Amino acid sequence: IVQWTPFIQTYKKHKYPWVQLAGHQGNFRAGLKQGTILKKLCPPEEKALEAIMKDVLRPYVPRYSGVVEGADGEKYLQMEDLLSSYSLPCVMDIKMGVRTYLEDELAKAREKPKLRKDMYEKMIQIDPKAPTEAENRAKAVTKPRYMVWRETISSTATLGFRIEGVRRGDGTSSKDFKTTRTREQVLACLTSFLQGYPHVVSRYVQQLKSIKVTLEGSSFFKTHELIGSSLLFVHNDSSALVRMIDFAKTVPLPQGVAITHRSPWSEGTHEDGYLLGLENLIDIFTALEKV
Ligand code: ATP
Ligand code: MG
Ligand code: MG
Repeated sequence: IVQWTPFIQTYKKHKYPWVQLAGHQGNFRAGLKQGTILKKLCPPEEKALEAIMKDVLRPYVPRYSGVVEGADGEKYLQMEDLLSSYSLPCVMDIKMGVRTYLEDELAKAREKPKLRKDMYEKMIQIDPKAPTEAENRAKAVTKPRYMVWRETISSTATLGFRIEGVRRGDGTSSKDFKTTRTREQVLACLTSFLQGYPHVVSRYVQQLKSIKVTLEGSSFFKTHELIGSSLLFVHNDSSALVRMIDFAKTVPLPQGVAITHRSPWSEGTHEDGYLLGLENLIDIFTALEKV
């Protein structure tokens, strides 16, 4: 069962069900301070948030207020709840980049390239023509093969982003975007997200453009690979915001490696496609602005 509201938040006497569009439900808790949430600590994310708080990107990331202990004794990262000043917000999570696994994860999957029947089954359910002849004979695929293929069924591999989850103005939610792949499919989904809120489109375009300019001047961005990181879009009748979230797989680039965040990825280059995705998003939102 998909549960969208793991807990109730309180902010300035206003109570609201918190909305979670991705990730494990148990990873989040209400914050210890009003206007904050807790996310289960993961060391790369802690390091990334600490560094971003000293970088020009700071205004585009939830305010981070350090590591705290939750009621369950676990350690959490406490950060600004981006929903706290919104009532009944529309929310969308877009996962950025041309791949959503680290090169290390791919290499690890390749160490023991066991044939996986379950992954073959998942593959043919989505695209019966995807497996090779050999894979059809074995009725199985390897995990690294599956990981690379999976990025091609959504817009990740081609457009450099994919829609993860949406909560619309009418209260309906969906996480069913695994195969939303073409520009037309993405446009249709964004149109339904923006339905009834035409005035927010240009605000989103402006903020996406500021994020792009800021990224291009950011030393954090220059020195890190951003994998599986998202842009969170939040709007209601009166305002709209976009922020960068989820740095669990944001890692420093190896010594001597520089990336464009734009060039195609091949193994070893560490390219993440973040700017490619951002430019495509700006282009698509700009098209929607003109409708
Ligand atoms: P995954 O890796 O599967 O994407 P995760 O456990 O790393 O998940 P996040 O992606 O950081 O978790 O967050 C999951 C969801 O929680 C987001 O899609 C969003 O709906 C919500 N969320 C995360 N951070 C915030 C925030 N600071 N303010 C408001 N909502 C947030
Ligand atoms: Mg995420
Ligand atoms: Mg994550």
